[in-house]
Amino acid sequence: MALELSRRHFIKTAAVAGIATAICSRRQIFADEPDAAEQSMVPLPHIPAGGLIRPPGALPEKAFLATCISCGVCVNVCHVMKYDAVATSPFGKGGLRGIFEYGAPYIKDMRDFPCGLCMECPEHCPTGALQETKKEDVAMGMALIDFGLCFGWNGDVCLSCSKACPMGGKIFEFYNGEWGNQPYINDNCVGCGLCVKYCPLGGSAIKVVTKRQYELSRTAYINDFRRLLAMSSEERYNIVYGQNLPGIMERGKLIEREYR
Ligand code: SF4
Ligand code: SF4
Ligand code: SF4
Repeated sequence: MALELSRRHFIKTAAVAGIATAICSRRQIFADEPDAAEQSMVPLPHIPAGGLIRPPGALPEKAFLATCISCGVCVNVCHVMKYDAVATSPFGKGGLRGIFEYGAPYIKDMRDFPCGLCMECPEHCPTGALQETKKEDVAMGMALIDFGLCFGWNGDVCLSCSKACPMGGKIFEFYNGEWGNQPYINDNCVGCGLCVKYCPLGGSAIKVVTKRQYELSRTAYINDFRRLLAMSSEERYNIVYGQNLPGIMERGKLIEREYR
């Protein structure tokens, strides 16, 4: 009997403790979730990590890596054309994945050396890893504006990116707010990176990602853009230059580190 009672007591105590723990951890979970006010201070928008941008006319990634023989002709052609945009992946870049990419050409740094779309490298590629393509059909990547950093979206007039873009009006859309023209880049972007070079924020407010990475994060990016459009200019100002400035500065540094 005494044994039976103490067993029941043990089960009851354990059950109460279990429920209490569950309630506490549930409270903890909810406590960790940002409320609406905190959420409105999260920097905009969601931009995926970089990825290697191939020269124009590159075959789809797997076929490109299988066809390219790392001869370096594209690197030399680009140098002769005075753009110096192409380099071959050094050994060790990109970890295990980098072993397969070793020696394959990519656009090394769009902030200083974007692709000028002269279209000479596909013409000279000996294997067809780079295919001759019309400029408008190039699909090297997709430029995404960081609305949290871009001058145009934060009270200043800029538009350097749209002026530098060789595709101009086909790609840039403008949203006229009380702060003037605010740029948005549509899916026709070819990914040359000329806009990155001319962004006065050292390219930090605009970033080219591969088309594949853009496909994966397109919905999140566009949702963030819609969220931004729905805000009043005062709300936007508070997010960027108000409480969140240190976070934005830190984010700018992170983006800068990613590029190098
Ligand atoms: S198209 Fe011209 S500028 Fe662009 S990577 Fe090829 S050679 Fe360089
Ligand atoms: S938006 Fe930028 S990356 Fe896209 S085509 Fe224009 S200049 Fe090139
Ligand atoms: S150049 Fe840079 S700061 Fe200027 S509008 Fe374009 S993304 Fe914004």
